[in-house]
Amino acid sequence: MKHSQDLKKFDTKLFAQQNQQLQLRTPVTDFPRLVEASDSWPIPTKSVVDWQLVGFVKKTTVVQEQIWIELKASARLPLTCQKCLAACDNLLGVDRQFRFVRDEATALREDDDCEEDLLVFDRLFNISELLEDELLMEIPLIPAHEACPKPLVPQSDVQALAPEPSPFAVLAQLKDKSKP
Ligand SMILES: [Zn+2]
Repeated sequence: MKHSQDLKKFDTKLFAQQNQQLQLRTPVTDFPRLVEASDSWPIPTKSVVDWQLVGFVKKTTVVQEQIWIELKASARLPLTCQKCLAACDNLLGVDRQFRFVRDEATALREDDDCEEDLLVFDRLFNISELLEDELLMEIPLIPAHEACPKPLVPQSDVQALAPEPSPFAVLAQLKDKSKP
């Protein structure tokens, strides 16, 4: 379905009540916080976030309904491998459901008792920011290659080092070197 809504001022209520769906493809470079999180590794201009939004309502009583949004997204982001300090490609995947509640107090009260995430309803909601938040949360704490393309220090050199420096000292050195 073609969308006409501004994703930064998104009418979630209407979207949910009409049971709408959206398939979107947005360049990764449109999300400044994702770009920043990539540790300045160049992000190819053709890198995209593929995402899907589904809106629906659940009736709780005859007159009351809940507004729900399902968000699915995937994107590839280069991050610094913490083993070899080269760029490693990371696939970030989001698959969550959100229920909109009236206010912060309701969100706090109900948050412990439900599996879905609660968001405070805003008539014009920034769905783009929500997507970016969710993708940022998927960034691994310690990004790393499964198998690094190049070991940082050749094994023979490692053995030659005596005494062995503390791993933290090595890490600190590496961090300094990685800075331009
Ligand atoms: Zn690596």
